[in-house]
Amino acid sequence: MAQVSAAIGDPISDAPILEQAKLEAVFADIQAHPLYDHELNGCLNCGICTATCPSAHYYDYSPREIVQLLWTENLEGIYDAMQEKIWACAQCYTCAARCPFGNSPGGLVMIMRETAIKHGMESAKEVLRPFSRVMLKIISTGNQLAPNMITADHFPDWGPNVSKVEAPLAVLRKAIPVPTLHTLDTAWEVNLKTSIELYTIWEATGVLDALETIDQNLFDVITDIMEEKREDYDDWLEEQEDDDD
Ligand code: SF4
Ligand code: SF4
Repeated sequence: MAQVSAAIGDPISDAPILEQAKLEAVFADIQAHPLYDHELNGCLNCGICTATCPSAHYYDYSPREIVQLLWTENLEGIYDAMQEKIWACAQCYTCAARCPFGNSPGGLVMIMRETAIKHGMESAKEVLRPFSRVMLKIISTGNQLAPNMITADHFPDWGPNVSKVEAPLAVLRKAIPVPTLHTLDTAWEVNLKTSIELYTIWEATGVLDALETIDQNLFDVITDIMEEKREDYDDWLEEQEDDDD
C-alpha cells in the first residue's frame, strides 16, 4: 500500500507546510457540496472547455486542468489551484454548454470558491475585499450597487472606460423610464420587513458565517446594522398594534 505522508511541502521553502489532513478536509467539503456530483460526471481531458473559455485566453488558467485535478482527486493540486487560479473564472458557463461529458467546470469552480471562503483562505479574503462595500450596501439598504458607487475611484480595476458612465450620472439616470430609478443613492427602496426577512435567510443559509470567516470587522459592523433594523422593525410592529387598540 502506498504510504501517505502526514505533511506536504517543499523542504527549502518558507511557505507553511500543508497538513495532509487539511487537504483532505478541503476536498471533503468540495465533494460534499450538493451540486458536486451534478457538475462532475467524468473527464476525457479533451480540452474543449479550455478552448472555449474566455478566461483561459487571458490568464494562467484552464478549466480542463481544474476538472482533471478534481476527477483524479489530486488534493495538493486542488489546494494549490484554490490559492489563485479559481478566481480567474468569469462564471460565463460556456464550458458547461460545450463539455461532452455534461460537466460544468464553471460550477465546479464556484464550489471551490465557496469552500475557499469556508476555510478562510487568504486568496478568498484578497479577492473579496473590494466587495465589502457592496455587502455593506446590501445589508444596510437592501440594494446592491447604488449608482453613485460606480466611479473610477471605487473600481480602479475597471480601467479607463469607467469614466464614461461616471460623467453626468444624475442626468443619465433621469433617462431611465422607471421613476424610482432616478435616484443616485439607492437603486430602489426596500422596506423594513423585506430587509428583516433577508437577514433571516442570510443567517439560515450560512452567508453571515462565511462573512465572519472572511472579514471579522465587516461582520461586526453588519451585525450592528441588522440589530438596529430589527429593533426598528419591532418598534414599527408595536406602533401598529397600538394603532389597532
Ligand atoms: S471537463 Fe469536459 S470539456 Fe473539459 S476536458 Fe473534461 S471532458 Fe473535456
Ligand atoms: S465559466 Fe469559467 S471556466 Fe467556464 S468558460 Fe466561463 S470563464 Fe471559463
